[in-house]
Amino acid sequence: MNQQRAIIVTGVSRGLGFDLLDLLVEAGARPIALGRRVDRRHKVAVASKACVFVAADLSVLPSLDQIDLASALPQTADEIVLISNAGVVEPIGTVGAIDGASLAAAFALNAVAPAIVARKLLAAADSRQAKLRVLNISTGAARRALPGLAAYCASKAAAAMIFDCLAAERPDVAIEHIDPGVLDTDMQNTLRSADDQALPVRQLFAGFESEAKLRLPRDVAREILARAGLP
Ligand code: NDP
Repeated sequence: MNQQRAIIVTGVSRGLGFDLLDLLVEAGARPIALGRRVDRRHKVAVASKACVFVAADLSVLPSLDQIDLASALPQTADEIVLISNAGVVEPIGTVGAIDGASLAAAFALNAVAPAIVARKLLAAADSRQAKLRVLNISTGAARRALPGLAAYCASKAAAAMIFDCLAAERPDVAIEHIDPGVLDTDMQNTLRSADDQALPVRQLFAGFESEAKLRLPRDVAREILARAGLP
């Protein structure tokens, strides 16, 4: 019997998510893109049914329950793979300076939305007697306290713990945490352009660029998929 795998990628308009989606489309995996928008190239892919786009602002939590992810998944899927990639590095600022609303917004996108999306996919997997597998795009910052990045560090750490709790509750759900290393994307640009007072470790990020340590997201996306055996 042929295995049917449904792959969902979040945050696909640019950066690592764009390349993950692009490689999956190229491989003919008919991925499901979940995010606020897709690049022009992927609009064409959606029109030709090479991928499915489910529009969602993942930071608007009350709207997430309304998203119909289940109908985007093939009824016959026996494995559902979530690549939880969408993320935000802001607010940048020391704990004494960041305001509660922007702190909550970071947690909404980086930690709560991945949990809600995983919960919805778990329900869809259970109703199909399919397996759920989650690739959590994490970061070294989830394990390292960086001055000025409390919102990012803490919300990414929270996401990892939520997924670990899910794995403890449901040993049949496979959870993998992936640290992609430092990537040449908008996120790194935001970090090295930050104010030194808001981000006392700004030089660390400036050094990644000046020392040519940033990796191309396409190369990293290719490695992530190959290591995960996808598609
Ligand atoms: P980018 O900032 O380049 O891209 C972020 C992606 O997330 C975009 O597609 C963006 O879409 C999407 N996104 C942001 N907000 C929302 C939202 N409210 N709803 C839906 N989608 C949203 O980030 P990277 O590609 O650099 O990072 C990807 C992942 O890798 C993140 O989880 C990050 O934590 C992790 N990571 C990155 C590192 C790096 O060096 N860049 C290092 C370690 C980990 P939109 O265009 O709509 O904003």
